[in-house]
Amino acid sequence: MIPALFSLVACGGPAAPTAPTAPATPIVQVGDPVLRSIAKPVDPREIPTPAFQALVARMIAVMRAAPGVGLAAPQIGIPLRVIVLEDNAERMKTLNPLEISERGRVAFAPRVFVNPVLHVAGSDEVGDAAAAKPIFFEGCLSVSGFAGLVRRFPEVEVSGLDEHGAPQTWRVKGWPARILQHEVDHLNGTLYVDRMETRSFTTQAHAKERFAGKPIAEILESLGISP
Ligand code: ZN
Repeated sequence: MIPALFSLVACGGPAAPTAPTAPATPIVQVGDPVLRSIAKPVDPREIPTPAFQALVARMIAVMRAAPGVGLAAPQIGIPLRVIVLEDNAERMKTLNPLEISERGRVAFAPRVFVNPVLHVAGSDEVGDAAAAKPIFFEGCLSVSGFAGLVRRFPEVEVSGLDEHGAPQTWRVKGWPARILQHEVDHLNGTLYVDRMETRSFTTQAHAKERFAGKPIAEILESLGISP
């Protein structure tokens, strides 16, 4: 899951005013094998069951309470291919215009993807798309307290089932595309630290103190990282 940080990515973000009381569900931290496992596909027949619906509700509650902008089921110790994500207008108010425009931040209602399949959009050539990967700070609720710069594809298309079992496809750019890549990585046992520019690894406190509100070009230069 992506924490909200100051404007990093992934799992997390300021809580929505409507966020429910923090549930007791703990967020699994790095080192737990569940975060390095390949999550199992959900049998679509399970989706309407009370148990599965309760899982989805719990994931959304945990994401909001953290607060975060995404959560994958393995992060609460459930090795299933389910992710939730949400970015809201309240969080946008905590960002400056540069942070919103550079990152492509946009508010969107909660989305649930069961058995998501991610495709890189905007290019048939992975090499071309890789060359244009934007880089920004991400954090993860399962790597609590830290952040790092991660390059992600600028646009993706994700297909899967929604929380009712209906097929859905979502093609997005910017921050939602980054969140999706981060969360689908969780289902395959991959964490952002596997993809980050290691020289950028930092506590969230240092990141906020040094880089909040600064253009990404300036951040990269100060860290000695190529754009
Ligand atoms: Zn995460």
